[in-house]
Amino acid sequence: MDEKSSSRVLVVGGTGYLGKRLVKASLANGHPTFVLHRPEVGVDIDKIQMLLSFKEQGAKLVQASFSDHQSLVDAVKQVDVVICAISGVHIRSHQILLQLNLVQAIKEAAGNIKRFIPSEFGTDPSRMMDAIAPGRVTFEDKMSVRKAIEEAGIPFTYVTANCFAGYFVGGLCQPGAIIPSNQHVSLLGHANAKGLEYAEQVGLGHYYHVCYEGCLTNFEIGDNEEEATKLYPEVNYVRVKDYLKRYL
Ligand code: NDP
Repeated sequence: MDEKSSSRVLVVGGTGYLGKRLVKASLANGHPTFVLHRPEVGVDIDKIQMLLSFKEQGAKLVQASFSDHQSLVDAVKQVDVVICAISGVHIRSHQILLQLNLVQAIKEAAGNIKRFIPSEFGTDPSRMMDAIAPGRVTFEDKMSVRKAIEEAGIPFTYVTANCFAGYFVGGLCQPGAIIPSNQHVSLLGHANAKGLEYAEQVGLGHYYHVCYEGCLTNFEIGDNEEEATKLYPEVNYVRVKDYLKRYL
């Protein structure tokens, strides 16, 4: 095995929507793969069975909890690469605290981590510093995690997947929809509708920047960045109109 393929990879949040795909990809690429098993998962039978199926496929389950800092340090000491894919949709601020804990644990593990990939996978927060409130909290929080990573001198990769997950295109970018309606679509405005809960206002603010302002497309890719089609030419990229045919 070359150096790249022998990286020991820890996935945090491995049973989630993104995390389970990251575990699968890590195993498929031949990396010794470790998956965090939080005691908080308790008797969630689907998660337990998923973790056991990862184990059957060759992953090692590592017991650790965000409420037991030393267990996190011990977990990251076992690997070279940490990928965090914890949820951010409804617990945004909580997610930031957890990720800051993880950064601290990586720092304490004293230099064995060659790369940390935090739970970003969205819009590039560094381009969103003019975002409208309250949605801008998401980007500010993600930037505070970036700051902590960079101040700690931890090598990192930030993945900005924009809206390339199953949540958006299929539902024609309608909040709360993941399959297209053949009845109607709403044209989204300034996210200042009355009577919305905070989380809905945050979400709608993001939709405003994505759908109305075009924040995912109106920039040039920078010198220290790489466009995904160049990194992964083997992927069969399709046009949106072809992608949507699956829903017919
Ligand atoms: P999920 O809601 O599927 O949750 C992922 C994992 O987060 C869970 O499986 C769990 O891991 C962990 N988690 C949840 N609550 C807690 C908690 N209180 N303490 C510790 N861990 C917790 O998340 P997604 O996969 O949808 O999202 C992952 C990341 O990807 C987020 O940052 C999100 O914003 C981003 N994203 C981006 C999208 C895009 O289109 N660009 C679309 C969707 C997500 P476990 O139980 O395994 O320990």
